[in-house]
Amino acid sequence: MVGSEIIQNAVAQNRTALTEFEAKEFLETLGLPVTKQVLADTKDAAVKAAKEIGFPVVMKLMAEDVVHKSDVGAVKLDIKDESEVKTTFEELMKIHSNSKKQVSIQEMAPKGNEVILGMTQDPQFGPVLMFGLGGVFVEVLKDVSFRIPPLTRFDAEDMIKEIKAYPILEGVRGGVSSDLDALVDCILKLSDLSVDLSDCIKEMDINPLFATEKGAVAVDSLVILK
Ligand code: ADP
Ligand code: MG
Repeated sequence: MVGSEIIQNAVAQNRTALTEFEAKEFLETLGLPVTKQVLADTKDAAVKAAKEIGFPVVMKLMAEDVVHKSDVGAVKLDIKDESEVKTTFEELMKIHSNSKKQVSIQEMAPKGNEVILGMTQDPQFGPVLMFGLGGVFVEVLKDVSFRIPPLTRFDAEDMIKEIKAYPILEGVRGGVSSDLDALVDCILKLSDLSVDLSDCIKEMDINPLFATEKGAVAVDSLVILK
């Protein structure tokens, strides 16, 4: 499916958000790197998917009304074998939801710095892009940078270097350094997207994007429709 079809499909169903699976499918159509992911409706399909992807895997409940997945135990990391896939599938399906439930089986992304990319709509400026480091940096310290798209490569680089926590991305004190070019590419793709699709997307984020020494990969994304 092309990106706009994923969105039209959800709009046709009167939905206000894409599931994480759909959001990452959508990002992939735009050339953004996302984790390998497969949707499963049954335990057997989950096992098959996990074997295809290769252990360890991550399993998450996909349901339109479960937006903050970890809050309700809908994210299970580091699933190591077939029997764990089966028990985890059952556990996830027990979580309360009023929407259709499916399980996303995905590759366990290699550790890196967790960054957040976001897009919101400002009544005056239209789409606004946001960048920051995940976790306490965004939630507690509000250490983020903003730009109005379209961005140039220079703008995107500037946006990354502007946050106070930037030394962390450089790998200060033995931490993992992050691939700046890969981050810039992701920001530029988000910039294009927010210019092209601001009519149908109210807000979206990639939270987190894992930024490793070589490359970056989106492990979670939320897209809210207009
Ligand atoms: P939530 O809906 O609660 O934001 P996420 O999908 O972001 O759930 O998962 C919570 C956390 O679990 C992420 O911030 C990340 O640290 C970790 N995580 C999620 N998916 C993966 C994955 N595929 N590989 C590695 N870590 C992951
Ligand atoms: Mg998340």
